[in-house]
Parts: sequence; C-alpha cells; structure tokens
Amino acid sequence: MISFYLQKNPVSREIKQLLKIAASDYSENKKYDVVIADKIPKNQNFKALVLVKKNLNFNSDIPILETDLVDLCQKGLNFNAVDYTKPLIEEELFLIKEFCAKNTVLAEIPPVSFGKTFFVVLSHDIDHLSLHGMHFERSADKNLDNRTFFEKIKSFLANHKSLHDKTLGFFALFKGGIWKDINNFEKINNIEKNFNLSSTYFFAPFKQKGISYDLKNAENHINFVKKNNNEIACHSVSGQNSLKHAVNEKKIVEKFAPVKGNRVHHLDFESTDFLKNFEKAGYLYDSSLGLNKKTGFPCLTTQPFVPLNCEKLMEFPLNVQDGSLFKSNAMNLSFQKAKKHCFNFMTFFQKFGGQLVLDWHNVFFNPQYSSWEKLYIELIKKSFELNALPVTMSECFEFFNERRNSKILHNKKSNSNLFSFKTVPKNKMFLRIWKNKNLVINAENELNISESKKCVDILCSDKTLVTVSSKN
Ligand SMILES: [Zn+2]
Repeated sequence: MISFYLQKNPVSREIKQLLKIAASDYSENKKYDVVIADKIPKNQNFKALVLVKKNLNFNSDIPILETDLVDLCQKGLNFNAVDYTKPLIEEELFLIKEFCAKNTVLAEIPPVSFGKTFFVVLSHDIDHLSLHGMHFERSADKNLDNRTFFEKIKSFLANHKSLHDKTLGFFALFKGGIWKDINNFEKINNIEKNFNLSSTYFFAPFKQKGISYDLKNAENHINFVKKNNNEIACHSVSGQNSLKHAVNEKKIVEKFAPVKGNRVHHLDFESTDFLKNFEKAGYLYDSSLGLNKKTGFPCLTTQPFVPLNCEKLMEFPLNVQDGSLFKSNAMNLSFQKAKKHCFNFMTFFQKFGGQLVLDWHNVFFNPQYSSWEKLYIELIKKSFELNALPVTMSECFEFFNERRNSKILHNKKSNSNLFSFKTVPKNKMFLRIWKNKNLVINAENELNISESKKCVDILCSDKTLVTVSSKN
C-alpha cells in the first residue's frame, strides 16, 4: 500500500491530483510499502520512501527516491519556470510511479480516455472577424484620429513587421489587388466537420487594442459556430485587471451563449493573480498560461491543474499558437520545420498523456496564410495517427473535473489487492495497473482490457473490481 506524508498546502494538493494513484494519507500506526513524503515520517513503518523534496540527508538501508517535485510544482504551476521546453513535472511523476511499481502494487487513473494516448484541445482566438478587420485595426489608432497621413503610414509600417505582412496589409486596407477575404468561420467549420470534430471559439466581449469588433456585430458568426456544435468562451481583454471587469465581461458574452472558460487576449497579464478573479467570476476553466513567441510546456506539465492561488478553477496551459511558430518576430519557422517541431512535441504527450492545447486564430484560415491552415490540418491528421483524441476545451474540462473528483478504493486481503472506483465514472476513465513480474491481474469486466509491456488498462464501465494477487 502507498501513503502520502505531505504538508497540507496547495502544492501537495496538486501533487496528489497529478499522480492520481491509489494511496491514502499517512497514519502512524499503519504499515506501508511506499510512503511519498516531503519530510521524514516520525514512525518509519514503511519499506520504501519517495522524498519529493531534495537534500533531506536521510541515511537508511531502505530503497529511496529523491526528486525536486515540490520545487518544480512551485515554479511550474505558478508560471515561473525558466526552461519551458520539457514537461519536467511529468518526468518526475513518471519516476515516482516507476519506483512505486517496483516496490508495491500501483494502480492509477491516467490523464487520458480509455484506449487513447492523449487529448488534443482545438481552440480559436477571435481577435478579428475578418482579415480586413485585422489589417484595418492595426493601421488605425482610435486615440489619434487627427494624425497626419505621414503618421498613419508610420503606424501602419510599425504594426506590419514582415514584408509579407506589409504587402498583405496594404492590399487588405484597400480591399484591392490580390486581396481576398473569406468567411473564415465557415472555413474552419468545414475543415473540422470533415474529421467530425468541434472546437472552442474565444470571442472578445468588446473592442480593445488588437480586437476589431463589437460582439453585437459578431452575432451571426456566434450563431453559426453554436449551431455546428462548437463551444463559445470568453476572450478577456480587461477581466485580468479586476474582478469587476471579469464579472462584466462574462455577462456580456453570456448574452450570446453559455460560457465556461476564458483566455486572456494576447496572454497579456502581469501575474497569475488574475486567475482568482476568473474563479470568483464563475469560470470553470482558464487557458491563458502560455507564450506568444514560443511553444512549450508553460507550467511544466502535460495535465490541467488548479492554480496554487485557486480552489477549483482549472488551468489548461496553452502549448502551441499558430503565430508563435510562423511569425517573423517569433520562431519564424518554415512549414516543414513547424510540422517537424510539432510532431516532436507530440511525443511527450504520447508518453505522459494529458492535453495538447492548440490555438489557431480564425483570420489565419484566409488563403493568404495557406501554410498555417495546412499545418492545422496536418496536426489533426497526426493526432488520429497517434490515437489521440481531439476535443473542445469544455469536453476536456469534463473529463479532468471528473478525474479530480474520482477516488480509487484499495483494500488488501492477505496476498490480494482489490481496486475499485468509489463512484461510477461517466467519462471514459480507466484503471491502470502497473505490471510487475510477481503479479497476477484479474478484472471483473474482462471485455475492456488493453495490455502493454508495462501496464494493464481496465475500462471502468461500472465500479470495476480489479484483483491483483502475488504469485508467491
Ligand atoms: Zn486575442
């Protein structure tokens, strides 16, 4: 049996949730196979120890694993990490699970649907309704109406950085020449419906810097998106600054559709304090912790989590934006390089599960950005090839919210370990038992089992009882 000996604080809360293994809180008069601790337990009634904080100078003959998990969670989950290129928290969690499996029977609820490798969350930030709107907004500055012609040209050039941007912007402004504006909402819908998929559209509550429309002018688009089974969420432009604004913005977007989540426009915020406002405003999830000029694991995990200053708001870090890959002031990759980069990136999710969050802006589905659109389609195809599951933000939230509230019951009778769910899961959650040479695994529901070298996965269609017994 496994036990947690951790201080009561938000980091411990998240460590338990990210691990999601069958384990109970430490009790001094019980015996354990493995204890996962942030300090040495007084009564050392255990066979092996995992210390999630390093440098504790514990000398003992028992098997021990030391990790920097507490430190990594404090930095990563607070959006304060230095190196975003790897999901360092997941790597530590994996080591812990491997260590536990060596020393006892390990059962977990993995962060993915049964039979799948990971989730791919499809989302679109709506900054402009059309490409013309984007170029027009970038060229006009509403606070400087009496600018001279020269000043306007200067602002236009400053806001259109690459030659490609300048050329497109010029033709877009005058709606002439090579200019073509299309209904990009229909375009996105056609692409996704070809794969039988839906996505989440983040609409801004009102005009603001970088947002060129008022929501009332977007009603047709919103209705179209809703009618096609997609999700509407809020693209905050001021809610990150105060609770009052957060509440107000939610109300505005809710006039058009039910709203569960938010993403801050341009990922523009000073600190993660704003997440408390979003939680108080009634949002269920946020997806603002990400980078504008890079791809990565902004919070060092592939899973969602509840930020350390919140109680229930779920954060889905943003991994890949179209602009980060392609813009000249960001990674500036060619199509082939961007594709290779994203495919490499997906291997981390294949190993650890969780959700890859994609953000493809609607305006970049215009023909002028054909390679951006092509990559989006390639990523969807690759997801199917890797047996990943593309979903909307709220579908992903439903799964992980249920997983957070689920509990594995573990009973031990002589050489047998019995695992079951406390309540029957609605989403396709499953139990994963890590294999070990000496174990015999029997599940009551034998129809839904999938086996790999390392583990046996059992779908929980009812409360699912799994018996694991020792051979010797
Ligand atoms: Zn935006």
